[in-house]
Amino acid sequence: MSTIYHTRRKKTFEFLKEKGMDAALLTSPSMIYYLTGFRSNPHERFLALLLDARSEEETLFAPMLDAQAASEQGTVDTIIPSGDTENPYEKLKQKLGAAPASLAIEKSNVTVDKAERLQDVAPGARFEDLTPFLEAMRMRKTRDEVERVRLAVETIEKVMNHALTHAVVGMTELDLTAELEYQMKRFGADKPSFDTIVLAGRRSALPHGTPENVAFQENDFLLIDMGVVVQGYCSDITRTFIMGEGTAEQEAIYEAVHAANLRGIEAARAGRTLASVDKAARDEIEARGYGKYFTHRVGHGFGMDIHEYPSVHGDNREPIETGLLFTVEPGIYVPEIGGVRIEDDLYIKEDGTAEVITTFTKHLIRL
Ligand code: MN
Ligand code: MN
Repeated sequence: MSTIYHTRRKKTFEFLKEKGMDAALLTSPSMIYYLTGFRSNPHERFLALLLDARSEEETLFAPMLDAQAASEQGTVDTIIPSGDTENPYEKLKQKLGAAPASLAIEKSNVTVDKAERLQDVAPGARFEDLTPFLEAMRMRKTRDEVERVRLAVETIEKVMNHALTHAVVGMTELDLTAELEYQMKRFGADKPSFDTIVLAGRRSALPHGTPENVAFQENDFLLIDMGVVVQGYCSDITRTFIMGEGTAEQEAIYEAVHAANLRGIEAARAGRTLASVDKAARDEIEARGYGKYFTHRVGHGFGMDIHEYPSVHGDNREPIETGLLFTVEPGIYVPEIGGVRIEDDLYIKEDGTAEVITTFTKHLIRL
């Protein structure tokens, strides 16, 4: 039976032939999942998909303990398992036969250690980077993929709702983080899609801070950035609340970010540049006097991984295309006051308009 995975491998073979490359060896678990349907975390064990353009053979190298699952889910006919006392690189060398002149790999996924082993396996082979091709293919999501993202969004929004009823002054960032991650699993998620971020007060001005044993106080901003994996796909949402009344300036900061988020979403249409989404959000924040406090790009693609192509920043002149899935997440981070970020997930539909998959309210909520 031919599946979406066969189609993706076929496209990869076509690309290899077009570029005159002999073979490709894919090694990141998410790319192997994308190309075969087999999802696993091999830890330090050897997991690789060999696509040999010379023979058109497809071979999945898997740890022995994963071999059964790989043959059931993997859509690849030939699976070569390796036990813990065996050397999988020897098996790879045997399978390759005559050394390929060029080997396409995922350069960002191959450590120096692995690269040296591959040089032994394919002496004299030129390494090419297949990542840009694969990322470009992965960037355009199918409806099926987006429906899985929607499930992941629905799940995380239940957890965000739970946060509203649960967060109180005196609770710590770590307390709430533990509660939210517990609820993720109760609502059916496989796992968080990244380390949950719960930051309060001035600490919310750290865009990538980690939760600590710090208690929420009256008038703190409470920033919650989290996501889950459901059926292999991620969600990513941020909402910011105020514990109590807060100040007029906190409200002004919140409204600036809220307006920037809406401007960014409005700008997200097929045919415009990705840069225009960043610019629309940034202009709004600059007009309100907070430009220097918006210190990161406006968004990023995601899917099976929490960060994928495209990068939505002010210098990305690439066009927005149908099938793209990315976040819009402007923020303002004032060190003495705290930070606000509002993050939504967008899909560019067949008609070129953006569908906002996240539905959680963006009106300021005081807890
Ligand atoms: Mn996020
Ligand atoms: Mn994000």
